[in-house]
Amino acid sequence: MVSIKSFFNIAAIATVLSGVNAAPKCVKRVVDCPRHHLTPQEIEAMIPAGNHTLTEMVLEYNKIWSNDNLSFDPNYFKNFTGGQYPGLTWIGCSDSRVPSDTLTETVPGQIFTHRNIANSVSEDDINSLAVLQYTIDELKVQDIVISGHTYCGGINAAMNATAFNGPIAKWIQPIADLYEANRAQIDALSPGYERNYALGKLNVKRVVDIVGNLEMVKTAREEGQIVRVHGWIYHMETGLIEDLKVTNE
Ligand SMILES: [Zn+2]
Repeated sequence: MVSIKSFFNIAAIATVLSGVNAAPKCVKRVVDCPRHHLTPQEIEAMIPAGNHTLTEMVLEYNKIWSNDNLSFDPNYFKNFTGGQYPGLTWIGCSDSRVPSDTLTETVPGQIFTHRNIANSVSEDDINSLAVLQYTIDELKVQDIVISGHTYCGGINAAMNATAFNGPIAKWIQPIADLYEANRAQIDALSPGYERNYALGKLNVKRVVDIVGNLEMVKTAREEGQIVRVHGWIYHMETGLIEDLKVTNE
């Protein structure tokens, strides 16, 4: 059992997390809501008058966010420059509605992240494998989470794979194969949410098995390193994460 205090690297907590818990809770859309160390009036005063493009506004909000964090800790950003000590690696979906940092109330420095369509890992995908190699060999992260989510467009695409071509078709093919292998079970469910959820869970379990059986993981474990690979599903409709309890360790 890992206590919440030891969940993240203690040194990182000391330098990065100080004061964060005292921040008021964000109740607005993320793009409208910096960390709120500044008052709403102070934030309002920093927003330039007139019409702006979306990218101009994003850059303005970045300045507000930077100033906001510096207002409670002048060394907030300097503390990041000495290196990273994330407590968790998150392999999730690219979907804009499932940002790992936001939905786990974490801040920079805590989660090493890789996101792609339908949170997949393939033994021939150098991108996800390089992320895992760095996680295991350099960062020595002990807990890797494969997180799927409900209402996943990538999962829907895999159930209708012939409608796609190009890189997307190639990327979702292993999930399409998983669907075909479990089609009787999945098609017996209601179309929409139930089928998406069922295949999403099977896909997470598939990826947990792939990652847990990688040579780099086996080697690290043989050398005494702890590497746990967890399978989670984020429920978009409630904001809650479900642990599928398929941990490979
Ligand atoms: Zn998705």
